[in-house]
This record gives sequence, C-alpha cells and structure tokens, in this order.
Amino acid sequence: MKLAILSRKPSLYSTRRLREAAVERGHEVQIVDYLRCYMDITSHRPRVLYQGEPLEGHRAVIPRIAASYTFYGTAVVRQFEMMGVFPANESQGISRSRDKLRCMQLLSRQGIGLPVTGFAHSTKDIEGLLKTVNGAPCVIKLLEGTQGIGVILAETRKAAEAVIEAFRGLDANILVQEFIKEAGGSDIRCIVVGGKVIAAMKRQAKPGEFRSNLHRGGSSEKIRLTPEERSTAVRAAKAMGLNVAGVDLIRSNHGPLVLEVNSSPGLEGIEVTSGIDVAGKIVEFIEKNATPGNTRDRIR
Ligand code: ADP
Ligand code: GLU
Repeated sequence: MKLAILSRKPSLYSTRRLREAAVERGHEVQIVDYLRCYMDITSHRPRVLYQGEPLEGHRAVIPRIAASYTFYGTAVVRQFEMMGVFPANESQGISRSRDKLRCMQLLSRQGIGLPVTGFAHSTKDIEGLLKTVNGAPCVIKLLEGTQGIGVILAETRKAAEAVIEAFRGLDANILVQEFIKEAGGSDIRCIVVGGKVIAAMKRQAKPGEFRSNLHRGGSSEKIRLTPEERSTAVRAAKAMGLNVAGVDLIRSNHGPLVLEVNSSPGLEGIEVTSGIDVAGKIVEFIEKNATPGNTRDRIR
C-alpha cells in the first residue's frame, strides 16, 4: 500500500525507522513535511496539496507531529481523515495528548491510577493548593514543559510556596503533584500499539536527580512488566483514543500510576534498549487496520 509519514525531518531516527520498516514490508512510502502542505477545504472534496500536487492514493498516514506544531499538524491529519485515509493516530487523540491537564482529566474519568494532582493558574490560595497533595515534598510542573524541563521537586513547604509564587508571576499554568519517593528516580516507558504493550523499558535518573528523562542524563534498561502495569498502559492509551502511544508509568506503593501519555513516542531509546522492532509493529498494525474509510472523523 501507499503510506505517508507526516514528519518534518526525514533524518530523524524514528522517521527513518518507520520508512525502513514499511519499505521492508513492500510498501511505498512518502515522507511529507506537514507544515508545507496546504489544504483545500471545498465541500465534499477535501484535498491536501504538497509541492504543487494533490496527495492522492495513500491508504494510511503515520503522523509524527512535533509538539510545537500541534495546531497545524493535527489539521493536516484531520484533512486526511476526511479523505478516508487511515491515520495511525487520529487528530483528536493527538490534540488530547498534547494537553497534560486534559489527558489527566480523561484518565481520571476512567479510574486509571494517577499521582494525586492539583492544578491552578493564579490562585492566591497556595496553602489550599498544597493541601490537595498533602504538602511537601511535592513535584511542581509547568504545564507546557517537556523532556523534564519545568519539573521541580520542592522538598519543603517553603520551597513549594516560593516556586508556586514564581510560576504565578510568569502567568503560567501550574500542576502540583504528590512526590512518589518510592519510585527512586525511575519511571517506565511502555509502547502500546493496537491495544497491546509491545515494548517497555525502565528509565533511571542519574544520581542526585529525580527526573528519569534520557534528555536529563537518565539511563535505560529492559524491564518485565507486571500484568497490572500492562493493563494500566493499555487502558491509558485507550482512554486517550490512541492506537500508538508511549505511556509513562511510575511504580508507587499502591500500584502503577500514569504520568503522561505521548502520541509520537520516540523510537530510538525503546528499540535500542528493548531490541524490539517497534517501527515494524506499527506498520503491521496499519496493515491490519487501514481499510478505506476506517476513520472516525466525526464529532464525538
Ligand atoms: P516531562 O513530560 O517533561 O517528561 P514528567 O511529568 O514526565 O515531565 O516528569 C519528568 C520525570 O520526573 C519523570 O519521568 C519522572 O522520572 C519524574 N517525576 C515526574 N513526576 C513525578 C512524581 N509525581 N513523583 C516522582 N517522580 C516524578
Ligand atoms: N468527543 C470527546 C468529548 O467531547 C472528546 C474528549 C476529549 O478529547 O476531551 O467528550
């Protein structure tokens, strides 16, 4: 079949691997820079144009939309959905996953385990906000942060108050979370494809650091998941409406808790660490599901 990978950078490991995996399976692959696409929104005949030509004949698209271009990128994915092209992840699921608060609200509605979390913009009731998470130590996050930037451990109430004050001054959205000390600076990245966990790794923060992001100097290793961890990851992906998801879990004394769900999980760390052909599993999933018109481009 003919596939398009929506990616700004053909040289990225994840893009390269997806292309390779699809070509290996005999598919025709085109890498499309979604920012350079333009759309024809005429009634009944939606089209996506790229380099002066309409994009036609694709059975499926694999969106790899960068967080900073979510608005335009999801609009392009939605346009493909309206053309009846199967998306590995739907535009709605991608938008949802880009908003940490919305994500947590949807997960909590499904009763999925989450760290106790409070959320605010510019409350003066800092004491009340801290009470929702039982005071210090606690983790304070800037809602717009990624790769561990803007995630702060406040060890004392004084520190927590000072950080919240500072964030208020920045006019930022603030998330306050109970600190899961027993996780010992590690978390678990699960890759869910088509309702199954197909790969997982444990990430460990470097000494003296509680954030396990590889970008923050963390290291990774293979891990065996418990059945509860598996089912939590699968339920989280489903609650977000994502076929392909990177679900980050943390091990607490009362079971696995979801930190975040990513709709374009990076493939390098997980493939290298687990030895699993994640790109291949994604293409396999598309082969099984990309029947024409299998999109849900409806208001739900
Ligand atoms: P980002 O989206 O920027 O990666 P996360 O919320 O995933 O931010 O936090 C980064 C890292 O910090 C996590 O991978 C985890 O190791 C650690 N961490 C985050 N929240 C908590 C928490 N509530 N308790 C303990 N550790 C946490
Ligand atoms: N269609 C869903 C609703 O309106 C979307 C949920 C969401 O993504 O927040 O409830």
